[in-house]
Amino acid sequence: MDANELLALGLGPISPWEVAASSLDLEQSVGTLTIELSVKRSSMFPCPICGTMCKPHDFSEEKWQHLNFFQHRCLISAKVPRVKCDQHGIHKANVPWARKGSGFTLLFEQAVLLLCREMPVSKVAEITGVHDTRLWRVITHYIRAAINEIDLSSVYGIGVDETASKRGHNYVTVFVDMDREKRSVIFATPGKGKETFIAFKKFLMEHGGSHENVIEIVCDMSPAFMSGAEIEFPLSSITVDWFHVVQLFTRAVDEVRRKESKHVRLPDGTRWTILKGVENQRTEEQKIALRQLEMEGRETSRAFLIKEKLRWIRGADTKSQARWRIHRFISYAGRLLDNGKYLEPMKKALKTFLLHMEEIVNRWESLLTNARLEGLNSLFQAVRARARGYRNVNTFIAMIYLIGAPIPKILHA
Ligand SMILES: [Zn+2]
Repeated sequence: MDANELLALGLGPISPWEVAASSLDLEQSVGTLTIELSVKRSSMFPCPICGTMCKPHDFSEEKWQHLNFFQHRCLISAKVPRVKCDQHGIHKANVPWARKGSGFTLLFEQAVLLLCREMPVSKVAEITGVHDTRLWRVITHYIRAAINEIDLSSVYGIGVDETASKRGHNYVTVFVDMDREKRSVIFATPGKGKETFIAFKKFLMEHGGSHENVIEIVCDMSPAFMSGAEIEFPLSSITVDWFHVVQLFTRAVDEVRRKESKHVRLPDGTRWTILKGVENQRTEEQKIALRQLEMEGRETSRAFLIKEKLRWIRGADTKSQARWRIHRFISYAGRLLDNGKYLEPMKKALKTFLLHMEEIVNRWESLLTNARLEGLNSLFQAVRARARGYRNVNTFIAMIYLIGAPIPKILHA
């Protein structure tokens, strides 16, 4: 086997093309290996439209970036024919090592996708020496193709959650198939309103699914989600997942703390100690803070006590027991919230909780695991990290799919 044959192996199947020559240019700071491919002048090529074998009309030289050859950049160069088809006229022929219009080889693009799943795209740009705009173009191309193929005919339970690509900007709503343990994201769309449900329903239908199949929708308590679910999926029941109940009250407790701390000095370590659940280990400082808050009769301490009672509700065995516990909880919270100066956020949370009590107690009969939406949070964090520095809503969505969607075939295009 000579050197050219060896280099050809690294390109995958390229027949009828062959490696004609290779040269290593070490003049620049980064060396460049150029592999020149050629084809017999007498070869025929398929018309890219109909596949009929045609004679070449003319040739033009092109270059593609390939996987690095050790520490050297590697370029493929070839004179690509334009074919003359009787039916379709003159068109550039496809080449086996790259997709149409791309300046990269297929193997290079596969490597890019693999790397971008594992590290920030800006880092991949650094490693490959390719501008991240071009990398994003590769990613979005493959994602779009893979998502087009997705089969949603057996989707029965859906989870919905929203996130922001940046703090307070560019909301994206994500739909997950609750029956999938891994890579459960089946749809992501800009916005966080009712319209996201309309878009999802359309997508579901276009991919073999049906809104009538959907038995249950798990989401948070946002009015937009609730009404979107009711209108677009009238046959399914709605379940508020417990994670969002805890989140609702945790945020309210934190707001009470913020308000109160403007008027009185709260012990050091207050913030973290009240945000932690009782099952978590507290530091000595946090334990002292908690005791002090209680002794000083702080409203933050009252808010904390209410939040911690959620655990007791969650421990209920049945739906009716949960309902009973919720009623006890409400009168308990009502007493604690009496004549407070800073407790308005807790009252509001309690109101929201009451408003959605039916959807909340549905979880006791839900067939779907509640841990799944909680898991989305770490997915979103990973996505934000990968898309750092180049984060518009579309790249953000592409990254959500790349990491979270059931598209294993993306790498075998
Ligand atoms: Zn043709």
